[in-house]
Amino acid sequence: MQYPFTEEQLALADVVRQFMQREVAPVAAEMDRRPDPKDCYPAELIRKADKLGLRTLVVPEEYGGGGADTTTKTLCLWTGAQTEIGVIKCLSQCWKVSSVIFKVGNDDQKERWGRAFVEDPDFVGGILMTEPDYGSDNLYRQPDPKLGLRMSAVKDGEYWVLNGVKRFNSLSTFSKMLIVFARTDPTVSVHQGSSVFLVHGDQEGVTHGRVHDKLGYRLYPNGETFFDNVRVHESDMLGEVNGGYATQAAIFRGSAELPACNTGISRGLFTFCREHAKERIQGGVPIIEHPTVSHMLADMLMNIEVAEQFMWRICWGVENDESYNTRFTRYGKVFSDDMALKTIRLATDILGGIGIMKDTPSEKMIRDLLTFLHGDGTDSMTLLRAGQTLDEPV
Ligand SMILES: Cc1cc2nc3c(=O)[nH]c(=O)nc-3n(C[C@H](O)[C@H](O)[C@H](O)COP(=O)(O)OP(=O)(O)OC[C@H]3O[C@@H](n4cnc5c(N)ncnc54)[C@H](O)[C@@H]3O)c2cc1C
Repeated sequence: MQYPFTEEQLALADVVRQFMQREVAPVAAEMDRRPDPKDCYPAELIRKADKLGLRTLVVPEEYGGGGADTTTKTLCLWTGAQTEIGVIKCLSQCWKVSSVIFKVGNDDQKERWGRAFVEDPDFVGGILMTEPDYGSDNLYRQPDPKLGLRMSAVKDGEYWVLNGVKRFNSLSTFSKMLIVFARTDPTVSVHQGSSVFLVHGDQEGVTHGRVHDKLGYRLYPNGETFFDNVRVHESDMLGEVNGGYATQAAIFRGSAELPACNTGISRGLFTFCREHAKERIQGGVPIIEHPTVSHMLADMLMNIEVAEQFMWRICWGVENDESYNTRFTRYGKVFSDDMALKTIRLATDILGGIGIMKDTPSEKMIRDLLTFLHGDGTDSMTLLRAGQTLDEPV
């Protein structure tokens, strides 16, 4: 591996690789095909990963976690995604929600929510922003107060009362902690008038609706959640009143999560294509000996490796560069989405008919790659946001 990883990081990546190959690979295809998406959630595998310290990987060491930095968690996600995306993405979601608590939470929240997360091997969390009528409107900065989140939070004594509906939220159905975005001032734009609340998954007034039946990432389910007069004590507001988007920025500022998903799955697909090309005989020789096929494999790997190098650059910038520009995070996502689509195009050529047969691993990898291209916002919205920072120095 070319990026200068430490011995410790490489050892941890090895733990992830072995876990994924030993525990996940043998069962993933069967779990992925379960007709009810609720049944795809890999609870038992998360518990096994917890025993290896993977669920609590980024929790600060003084709270009993691994204290992993951005490069380490990205390396672990990228490594795991080469075997199966759903399980490792559930773990990555754990890294995201626990880092929110430990980065943005106050001492009391770290003690109550952070300790509960660390101590319970079944504890996963969800980040609930998207609503049926508001997706991109929550992410793109528009001044109109009518655009964005409708979910309301109204103060009543020491409590906030939450009402509204969320959908498409990852792991929400299985979460013990919901990180919920709600409107606390509907008279200003969503970016100025939203706050974040910590809500128990089984709190009174919270009900979970459908688990969405998705094309891919099926071991990482998404659901809808209803809030009916849910009373949240003011001590469970995360960050400041109307400071919800500062919390959002803390979550996404230096994320290389989506590039790691895309490059990891693409590497898995590349490896499958390369091995297939060595075995498959057409024109009297293994197809890898046809210049068109080796050219396509080289093209595929070039794009994957360029996206990977930029991903490590994001990680380095987040850890080492005070002036790190969040445009890089956006570029990393959009570039790796393009790379993912190109990988699919080349794979379907190299593999021919076999590539999309349900008994090949490539069929799942292609579905997985297509599933999350709009993650953290569509590419067009992501570039529109980048376009709002064109005058900022790199
Ligand atoms: C697997 C998966 C995991 C997810 N996880 C979560 C999660 O954990 N938490 C969460 O809150 N959400 C989550 N989401 C939701 C995801 O963030 C949204 O789907 C995404 O933000 C896009 O919103 P949308 O689907 O409503 O698309 P829309 O907003 O309906 O966009 C449709 C099209 O319209 C364009 N468009 C929209 N507005 C404008 C505009 N003003 N100007 C120009 N073009 C515009 C968009 O670019 C796009 O091309 C997840 C979704 C999936 C599928």
